[in-house]
Amino acid sequence: MEEKDFKCLRCGTISKFPYEKGVMMERQCLKCGSNSIRLVKEKKKEEKKKE
Ligand SMILES: [Zn+2]
Repeated sequence: MEEKDFKCLRCGTISKFPYEKGVMMERQCLKCGSNSIRLVKEKKKEEKKKE
């Protein structure tokens, strides 16, 4: 399983968590304990559309 960066929507802390495509996992911010955590997309080249 690979690790990806996740950003806490509450405090903005970025932490590494295991990530597997299509699998929902419970994650908690290491700093504030919030479970509002979102995958940070690592697209370096082009950012065409905002969604
Ligand atoms: Zn947090």
